[in-house]
Amino acid sequence: MIKNKTAIYSKEKESEPSVRFCALGGLEEIGRNMMFVEYKNEIVIIDAGLQFPEEETPGIDFIIPNISYLEPRKANIRAIILSHAHYDHIGAIPYIIEKLGNPPIFTTSLTKEIVLKRQEDFPNLPKLNITVVKNNDKIKLSNYFEAEFFGIPHTIPDAMGILLKTPVGNFANFIDFRIEYDINDKPIGLDEIEAVAKQNIHTLFIDSTNSEVPGHSMSEKVVEKNLEEILKSAKGRVIVAMFSSLIDRFEAIIRIAEKLNKKIVISGYSMKSNIQIAQRLGIIKVKQGTIIPIEAIGHFKDDRLVILSTGAQGESNASLMKIISGENRYLRIKPGDTVIFSSSVVPGNERSVQGLKDNLARQGAIIYHSDIADVHASGHATSEDLKMVMKIIKPKFVIPIHGYYYMRSVYKKLADEIGFNKDNVILLDNGKVAEISKNKITILKEEIPSFYVMVDGLGVGDVEEVVLRDRKALSAEGMMVVILTLKKDNNRLIKSPDIISRGFIYLKENQKIIEDIRSSLKGIIARLPAYEKIDVDYLKTLVREQVSRLIFEKTRRRPMVLPVIIEV
Ligand SMILES: [Zn+2]
Ligand SMILES: [Zn+2]
Repeated sequence: MIKNKTAIYSKEKESEPSVRFCALGGLEEIGRNMMFVEYKNEIVIIDAGLQFPEEETPGIDFIIPNISYLEPRKANIRAIILSHAHYDHIGAIPYIIEKLGNPPIFTTSLTKEIVLKRQEDFPNLPKLNITVVKNNDKIKLSNYFEAEFFGIPHTIPDAMGILLKTPVGNFANFIDFRIEYDINDKPIGLDEIEAVAKQNIHTLFIDSTNSEVPGHSMSEKVVEKNLEEILKSAKGRVIVAMFSSLIDRFEAIIRIAEKLNKKIVISGYSMKSNIQIAQRLGIIKVKQGTIIPIEAIGHFKDDRLVILSTGAQGESNASLMKIISGENRYLRIKPGDTVIFSSSVVPGNERSVQGLKDNLARQGAIIYHSDIADVHASGHATSEDLKMVMKIIKPKFVIPIHGYYYMRSVYKKLADEIGFNKDNVILLDNGKVAEISKNKITILKEEIPSFYVMVDGLGVGDVEEVVLRDRKALSAEGMMVVILTLKKDNNRLIKSPDIISRGFIYLKENQKIIEDIRSSLKGIIARLPAYEKIDVDYLKTLVREQVSRLIFEKTRRRPMVLPVIIEV
């Protein structure tokens, strides 16, 4: 009997389908968002974004998701769905698409255009296979997966939510989204969310970036009203600094400028190209003559000029920095200019933004930023809005995404506050696999590689851990080069060792240490056998270790030591 029971149990277990879900990025950072679901021999990917470097990764252009699990399974990849055109969701495409076998991409028209524009920088890649989708479209992606799309407000037009129909139930993906309010603080567009709720949602995947921010989202209308006030009362030029992807707000500023009979100058390459794409698609409508080239700036009175600029995060190569430093040929800051930071400060950029503000203030600019005036509304839903969505959708399970562990854990608390069973809020890490079946989600022990893949110049993944450690050591501790010139036939020093130091100690003031190093080097060489061929690598290691130890003893510092052996 018992035997029989076991057999039935295992049979039941076998027939119980489960879908595997894994995020390769986006759960332990804001950036490199990429996740996938897998069932039998079918994989559907959502987003393929990049992450901008942090202080921990000097010299790195950016970081992309690790696809080493997907590469050998590329024949199984049925689709990549791109939720919207922000780089943290699409930026990795040029670096991974070929390795994934160039699978079909499904996305909205603006996202398609921005992806294609970027692809122009990579002329050797295969032509992308993109299908444009719009709200309410239903697409059969494969035997087991079907997708439907719905509109969600964010900071860029054509952002979409994704309803993924799977063998275990319907997954609703609210990736980057906010709730928009009208001027009377009434939420807009809840009917779309209610329509999603009617589809009986099994698991809700939801943006948790702003889970800690209290209250409801600020209306973009409030931001517009404030921008209009500032533009109207400005006695000089107004420079609005923001992200080049904030297309919704460009549209508003262009509208305000036209109303106030002001001209617009766009400063920043990526901003220009995004505005052109949006214009071509009819998303932004601009009257002839509203946008003027920067060279024409001298033909207009200051109070008729609005300059849109990139660089609100203090990026050193962006347009605002060039205007401030005097590198821009046509535009410099002068007293009476108004500068609006229409953005929030991305964590990690606080210091560079402070530097910008200091610099602007010194040059006599009047500054507005989101801490002192409502000149920016975040693109991510805040706590009350997140609760509202959860209440409308009534999912069985929730997997918070797009946020550090802390943000996702705060989301779990929000769920608890509205009486949602918090055990059904699943906190995963990058690379962890959730096995999702009809009635439960199990986190497997299995770990899919998700560690950083770094892009340095045009190389992908060729910056190893070691290189990074070296760069860190160099920037923090400096370096010392030790040059030993040896006579080939007897392995003896021809001259005293040369020592060069950079970013570590000033040699002239540290003669004692230098002498100690020299005599220790002489000691090493003296102990070498005189008439045998020396093992250069071994000698280098020996020199590096001895010199490093000596420097540490004397200075408590660990510069990088580079031995150079010259045999003549
Ligand atoms: Zn976004
Ligand atoms: Zn995002």
